[in-house]
Amino acid sequence: MMTGKIKQLTISLFVLIAIMVSGCATKDLTRQAATTNQNIVVDEKLLNEANAYAEKQVAMVQIDAAAERDNIFMLLAYAVVYKNWQNSDMANNRGYNIGSVLVDENNEVVYWARNSVNVTKNMTQHGEVRLMDCYLATHGPNDLKGYTIYTTLEPCAMCSGMMFLTSMPRTVYGQKDPSFGDAIERLEFDSTSLPGGYPPYPRHVISNGSHLSGRYVLDYYYKVYVSQHQDAHITVFLTTAEAALVFSSALNTLEKYQVKYPENQEVKEKAIAFYNTKVTSSYTKLCPEQ
Ligand SMILES: [Zn+2]
Repeated sequence: MMTGKIKQLTISLFVLIAIMVSGCATKDLTRQAATTNQNIVVDEKLLNEANAYAEKQVAMVQIDAAAERDNIFMLLAYAVVYKNWQNSDMANNRGYNIGSVLVDENNEVVYWARNSVNVTKNMTQHGEVRLMDCYLATHGPNDLKGYTIYTTLEPCAMCSGMMFLTSMPRTVYGQKDPSFGDAIERLEFDSTSLPGGYPPYPRHVISNGSHLSGRYVLDYYYKVYVSQHQDAHITVFLTTAEAALVFSSALNTLEKYQVKYPENQEVKEKAIAFYNTKVTSSYTKLCPEQ
């Protein structure tokens, strides 16, 4: 017999995983995910609301081959973060549950990094900063022309600035940050028509939100979280069961995902191989080892 809590969890995960990647889930996939996440319990009614919102958003998007690759790489970024999931004990943590992966122009994942601001006692150590800084230091190129960063949280002003300065053309994020986000849009905003206004920054970076349902589930949950917490911080939200639910299901979803576009099969397999061979489950002092 299932206990009430586990039953609630199983139903919740079933609903979430079923829409995590539109059209890809099978019954086996949902069952497997449910059994590997029994410790994550969330409110079923709220999850149903979040899923309904996500479903509506995802239904509005046509997924072509490039968008499918975006989904694959974003799932990988969520999985990288979940591999070293942090609890709310901020004082003793590595950092926040935020991370990113770097993909080159041949759709090869070449690097990963996670936020490490606490363990380094250095508030600049965001996942994207570590990703860009360490990759350039260890792999040779002077800039990031042709690369894309998939990051689980929308980039802040610091990380966005580095993206402009390294000539990185595009980033995709897995959750909107209503406070520190839109940094790229702000840098590109043309206010010359206003008194004392400025022209846009002289380089262009494309910033896209992911179309994975998990992204919209996170956005929905965070909106509710803000409405319930006077001093809400997105980094604290990212230690909640609701956030963990999305991140924890990413690897399983990626592994079971059946590509719609055959040319993406190899991309998916290589992304999973990267996770299995390159991504560690603990903090790496300078950069991820490659
Ligand atoms: Zn940042």
